[in-house]
Amino acid sequence: NMSHEIRTPLNAITGMCYLLSQTELSAETRERVGQIEGAGHTLIDLVDEILDLSRIEAGKLILTAAPFDLRSTIARVITLTRSKADAKGLPLTVEIQPDLPDRMIGDRVRIQQVLTNLLDNAVKFTAEGGVALKVSAAEKAPEGRVELCFSVQDSGLGIAPDRLPLLFAPFTQADTSITRRFGGSGLGLAIAKQLVDLMGGSLSAQSELGRGSTFTFRLRLQLDRRPEEESATPPQAVDLKGLRVLVVEDNAMNQLVVESILADRGVLVTVVDRGAAAVLRIREGERFDAVLMDIQMPEMDGYEATQRIRALPNGAELPIIAMTAHVLSSDRARCLEVGMNEHLGKPIHVDRMLQVLGHWTGKQEARAREPADLERTLARRE
Ligand code: ADP
Repeated sequence: NMSHEIRTPLNAITGMCYLLSQTELSAETRERVGQIEGAGHTLIDLVDEILDLSRIEAGKLILTAAPFDLRSTIARVITLTRSKADAKGLPLTVEIQPDLPDRMIGDRVRIQQVLTNLLDNAVKFTAEGGVALKVSAAEKAPEGRVELCFSVQDSGLGIAPDRLPLLFAPFTQADTSITRRFGGSGLGLAIAKQLVDLMGGSLSAQSELGRGSTFTFRLRLQLDRRPEEESATPPQAVDLKGLRVLVVEDNAMNQLVVESILADRGVLVTVVDRGAAAVLRIREGERFDAVLMDIQMPEMDGYEATQRIRALPNGAELPIIAMTAHVLSSDRARCLEVGMNEHLGKPIHVDRMLQVLGHWTGKQEARAREPADLERTLARRE
């Protein structure tokens, strides 16, 4: 419930910022909009972190084991951190042992999460010198497995020896006076450590005050020997021009956000604020290519509205996509159960919403999808 209550207004905040940033603004206003958006995303991250930690502590976090590509995973992580390092003028180098195998089996997204946390910290707490990620493999590993070693080195603030063992506990920061100005919740390393433990790996830190730190993440993974089935194609720009989309949403601000984003792409948008109104429009024979359906609405919720639409002759095949701040995997399952085609969590990710609309309306080739990845994203939010 908390997650839902927090996500709904956050969706409005980040969505409005997105819309504002698409308009003509003075440099000063643009900067302020950017700051609001940044703060919104920080809050979203914090909600995700707290939920992650409570899931782990409740023993409810499930890791996925799917084939993934090591080098492209590292590339993604680096892309995320690179812009932060660039903004500080800090060199960020990557060294991957050349003969490392590439295809392995594990929870790519969780591995990415741990590495991103370590790299982000390294960049955050380093003013000069640089940050380096090194990836190597232990020479000896059982047949069919690899023992990876990721090390993240920085030349930053360093951590006092007596604080070092405390870093992996929730809500601790090495030095509140110094770190206050850097922001952060003190949750990142606690989550990283617990994730690594769950994956059966190890995470350790070495540091010298004023000299820098090295965080080492070791992980044993199974190699993927099967031929590569599908290469993940990058999401393409989707042309949604002329689509007729019914948006069912009771929050005026969220209506405006979705309507503007879609109208900008030439989509013909009809907005209603009640489930019953949506059912009526379709029963009366109005033609839509897809429905974006909020779940929690007064009188008739999105689940019931979907079931009623599905019972109509012209509603059986209509793509209905949930767009909701209910992001638990049980909520998603319920959406699919009542007959929705897909579930989009709020805050809305613009590109993903467009991709999903494109996919279900046949405007775009079905792209190589990663269901395990989606599951994980949802599980993470839970
Ligand atoms: P936060 O969100 O506060 O960064 P973390 O759990 O990721 O939370 O880190 C906890 C604390 O550990 C940080 O506030 C900082 O004091 C210390 N720390 C983490 N990584 C580094 C690093 N590379 N260099 C110096 N201090 C670090």
